[in-house]
Amino acid sequence: MSSTRFDIIVVGAGIAGLTSALALQGDGARVAVLDRHRAGTEASWAGGGILCPLYAWRYPQPVLDLAAEGMRRYPELLASLESPVDPERWVTGMEILDPVGAGESAATISATLDSVGIAHEWRNRNAKGNSGNAPALWLPEVANVRNPYLIDALIDTLPSRGIELFEHRAAEGLLYEEGRVVGVATRKGEMHAARVVVTAGAWSEALVPGLPAGSLFPVRGQMLRLEPRPENGLDRILMDEGVYVIPRRDGSVVVGSTVEHAGFDKSVDEATQECLHDKACRLWPRLTGARITHRWAGLRPGSVDEIPLLGAHPEIENLWVNTGGFRNGLAMAPATANLLADRMAGRPTAIDPTPYRLERLIGG
Ligand SMILES: Cc1cc2nc3c(=O)[nH]c(=O)nc-3n(C[C@H](O)[C@H](O)[C@H](O)COP(=O)(O)OP(=O)(O)OC[C@H]3O[C@@H](n4cnc5c(N)ncnc54)[C@H](O)[C@@H]3O)c2cc1C
Repeated sequence: MSSTRFDIIVVGAGIAGLTSALALQGDGARVAVLDRHRAGTEASWAGGGILCPLYAWRYPQPVLDLAAEGMRRYPELLASLESPVDPERWVTGMEILDPVGAGESAATISATLDSVGIAHEWRNRNAKGNSGNAPALWLPEVANVRNPYLIDALIDTLPSRGIELFEHRAAEGLLYEEGRVVGVATRKGEMHAARVVVTAGAWSEALVPGLPAGSLFPVRGQMLRLEPRPENGLDRILMDEGVYVIPRRDGSVVVGSTVEHAGFDKSVDEATQECLHDKACRLWPRLTGARITHRWAGLRPGSVDEIPLLGAHPEIENLWVNTGGFRNGLAMAPATANLLADRMAGRPTAIDPTPYRLERLIGG
């Protein structure tokens, strides 16, 4: 196949790839996005869609900075989409019933949240009406999106921006000329571009030469959905002991999640699903009796220091990376895409790009 030349080829059409493509096209680039499957059917489909890190203060500062910036940018991103599909962003707030872990205090948690502008208040009586010994934490501005719908809306927007999407087209390797990347090899032929961006989620490591083995890896999360019923009556995200329940607009409730190192295996198991279900019913007893309609698992793109990899390859010209969203890839997406586009255009950035650079792992 003779290849068309693009300005930029984005490899991987999850939330990172789709938002990156839109941000890069905004700079006037001719952009193509490839996915080896149907676009948006991996982690970005599987996630819970909570637009705030869970127990946010336990993440490294660079993650918090991107997540907080992502939360701020979501309304603008959604308003820019051209699609009949509504991603159902819903500001329900999130209540965490066990916020203070070992070695933490309400004061240190508040200081961290204040540092990134995440509104919060402490409550002595939690959503279930209990007043326990420890206060609950209420985050009134936290929203969730129906992430499969968000993906659909992003995909719908691509053609109107002139972005070409190639589904079922895996990048099998990078093409080089004189040591510089000039495109990607696919089973359907070579595709050429001035620059290539790897956004292949948990599968990215194989496409980024020089990364030490284990820099990027899959982290499985199991989820389930409970049927919509008026008596579910859930009006906020609730979280306790690592398990959360998320209300959707149609009255269904999404329950998650596990954090498992199981390689590229997306299966679910009965015992874990039962445990998630039991915990959800303890967390919000009105869910007892609701039928489970779906069970699934997805693979989060984990990175060795839990910080995304975002920036230029330090040794290979024309190769860029935006991955490693781990548990917060949906929340961070508008911020990571923007940071990438600013870096690629050589503009000043809203956030210091240093902590995300690949140099921390390559060529040190
Ligand atoms: C159970 C679960 C719950 C989660 N909950 C939340 C949450 O509530 N809030 C939040 O912010 N985040 C959440 N996350 C994390 C979030 O979903 C991820 O961080 C994010 O979706 C990662 O997006 P991505 O685009 O990097 O990866 P993916 O969505 O996995 O996309 C990568 C894409 O690259 C493609 N690809 C791979 N290799 C190739 C190749 N060689 N050539 C072409 N294409 C390729 C894949 O097919 C895939 O479509 C959750 C994740 C899971 C699994």
